[in-house]
Amino acid sequence: MDTMIKTHNKLQYLQRLNGYVDKLGYSSHSKIQNKRHKMGVKKPGPQYGGIICVKASRGGGSGLLELVPETKKENLDFELPMFNSSKGQVVDLAVVGGGPAGLAIAQQVSEAGLSVCSIDPCPKLIWPNNYGVWVDEFEAMDLLDCLDYTWSGAVVYINENTTKNLGRPYGRVNRKQLKSKMMQKCIANGVKFHQAKVVSVIHGETKSKLICNDGVTVQASVVLDATGFSRCLVQYDKPYNPGYQVAYGIVAEVEEHPYDLDKMVFMDWRDSHLNGCADLKERNSKIPTFLYAMPFSSNRIFLEETSLVARPGLAFDDIQERMVARLKHLGIKVKRIEEDERCVIPMGGPLPVLPQRVIGIGGTAGMVHPSTGYMVARTLAAAPIVAKSIVQYLGSNKSVSGDALSAEVWKNLWPIERRRQREFFCFGMDILLKLDLPGTRRFFDAFFNLEPHYWHGFLSSRLFLPELFFFGLSLFSHASNTSRIEIMGKGTLPLVNMVNNLVRDRD
Ligand SMILES: Cc1cc2nc3c(=O)[nH]c(=O)nc-3n(C[C@H](O)[C@H](O)[C@H](O)COP(=O)(O)OP(=O)(O)OC[C@H]3O[C@@H](n4cnc5c(N)ncnc54)[C@H](O)[C@@H]3O)c2cc1C
Repeated sequence: MDTMIKTHNKLQYLQRLNGYVDKLGYSSHSKIQNKRHKMGVKKPGPQYGGIICVKASRGGGSGLLELVPETKKENLDFELPMFNSSKGQVVDLAVVGGGPAGLAIAQQVSEAGLSVCSIDPCPKLIWPNNYGVWVDEFEAMDLLDCLDYTWSGAVVYINENTTKNLGRPYGRVNRKQLKSKMMQKCIANGVKFHQAKVVSVIHGETKSKLICNDGVTVQASVVLDATGFSRCLVQYDKPYNPGYQVAYGIVAEVEEHPYDLDKMVFMDWRDSHLNGCADLKERNSKIPTFLYAMPFSSNRIFLEETSLVARPGLAFDDIQERMVARLKHLGIKVKRIEEDERCVIPMGGPLPVLPQRVIGIGGTAGMVHPSTGYMVARTLAAAPIVAKSIVQYLGSNKSVSGDALSAEVWKNLWPIERRRQREFFCFGMDILLKLDLPGTRRFFDAFFNLEPHYWHGFLSSRLFLPELFFFGLSLFSHASNTSRIEIMGKGTLPLVNMVNNLVRDRD
């Protein structure tokens, strides 16, 4: 019997996420936000876990946000071969969502000669996020040509006196180049595009029918949900309780900045910029934010004030106020803002129902690193695994289809060792959620003293159990006594939860 799944769960989720994002002070339209700012709208701040977030006048009164341009949406200059729905064709694969995850799969499955339809409301739009990756991650995938800036190393300011120099090159993804490259390959391989939003799916035994918001239907043997944090079709059956990484970033032209041009600033946890503001300093001490910066030249830089993870997430106004105070203290005068980004990344939380008929990848499939918020490199590295198993079952040997086919693909995406690894990363997130600024500083002081194999492997999802336990032991041995007591005190319950989950989750 056909089963129809509307995207209700997703809509509820989106409402929750959007409501949540609204609560954070997010408006997807910078213009609206700037107008509110100019009108000086101030409301009593929301109360989060006993901490009163007093809303700043936007931009901390510095007028920073007045420099934010109207949202500029840049499209790729491509003629797209469009999907012809009138033919009643059943494509091998329908990919819902044209972000990095979806396009990677569309490209790779079509390369094997299978028919693919890619559905996205804005298929030509250049992805809006500023993606940062470790250079070795992109090098391993032969994607070095898709980095527009690289730094020979990174720096972490633990506090005013301790700085860690990380000898690991870092890069900014050239999102226009990466998307162009993927789209060109998709077009060459015969992928067809449909510009719309998917609203529901009806599953038959061997094929599924997607219904789009323009009334068009697309039939496919396999459906892949790659809609990021919208989680359009993939089903979840456990309460959704992620932590949130919230960040506000600008690509800015500045008079000058104090950072080395050959190092990106991975984390700047210094807080002396808040010395004159007891209220802000206390808030930052309880739920800390750090600066992440990519200096492109002596007067052009990406600056992002970031809350690593908090539940609930920090309000944007709060983050912006901290950023303005920091820039002032660092003597960074912003002359022009080329673009700004408001980042809300759900981290951790449950995995989707495994297996299920719709396949997922990327943000929709729980692939964000629960302790860091990073995902792009991991998803692009996982894409060949997903693509290969789709091709294997859909290609010449059509013996497996429908639910059975999807189950095989999910098994390859989330094998037991990956699920265990994620459980460990969620444990890391649960500890980070409990640390205040001094605790966070102690944690990263020990973390970046680890052998590169360990911290590289942790950040890039390359360590698996049991090695992750050795990572944990090594971290513990590098930690100060205060930090050890803290990790034991705050980590015991998360540790018990992790062990329970590991025991319960068997293949
Ligand atoms: C501001 C920001 C900065 C980030 N920076 C980094 C970083 O530096 N490094 C890193 O590793 N990770 C980063 N991340 C995390 C993660 O890598 C990104 O969110 C990444 O874009 C997720 O890729 P995706 O393909 O899964 O989803 P997305 O990139 O979100 O793409 C989803 C696509 O699906 C489409 N879509 C949504 N709903 C529907 C529907 N119903 N029908 C059809 N299409 C639909 C959307 O229009 C979109 O094109 C960042 C996230 C954010 C929000």
